Amino acid sequence: MSETLVRTLDQTRTERVIREANSLTNGYSAPPIPVREIAENAGVDVIFSSFGGASERVAGFCDFEARRLYVNSNDIITRQKFTMAHELGHWILHREFFESHPAEYRVLPRFHKPVSNHFEREADIFAANLLAPAALLRPVRELGAAALSSIFGVSRTMMELRLKEI
Ligand SMILES: [Zn+2]
Repeated sequence: MSETLVRTLDQTRTERVIREANSLTNGYSAPPIPVREIAENAGVDVIFSSFGGASERVAGFCDFEARRLYVNSNDIITRQKFTMAHELGHWILHREFFESHPAEYRVLPRFHKPVSNHFEREADIFAANLLAPAALLRPVRELGAAALSSIFGVSRTMMELRLKEI
């Protein structure tokens, strides 16, 4: 495949990811976005767990068969919301693939390594657009990252990135 074609395909997929996230938030007129409610409306239960011996390493994961998202109960709330949004991204975008290729699925680590494959990248893009939708962010962007991160209930780092993207 030509480089241009690969870029075009990537861009088409990214646009689809953003559309999927926007379709779940366009009923909400003000932040913060209730990500747990959205997940449960999408057919998955959200379970908080301390993960025992894996607590230090794992932020969360999706059990596709049981229709459950597991979230590390020891994490701070902004991190828990990101975990829910990221795993909901896998549930919405990649469920069919991971159900037929379970060995490809990776749990979400607490400490992010550089994003390694397009599934993880798409779940991150989905999470950013779900938690901080451009339509709600654009009109108030001049408030700045510090205020907006607490209004939207996301980390300061994510908000700084979002303000550059939109
Ligand atoms: Zn992931």
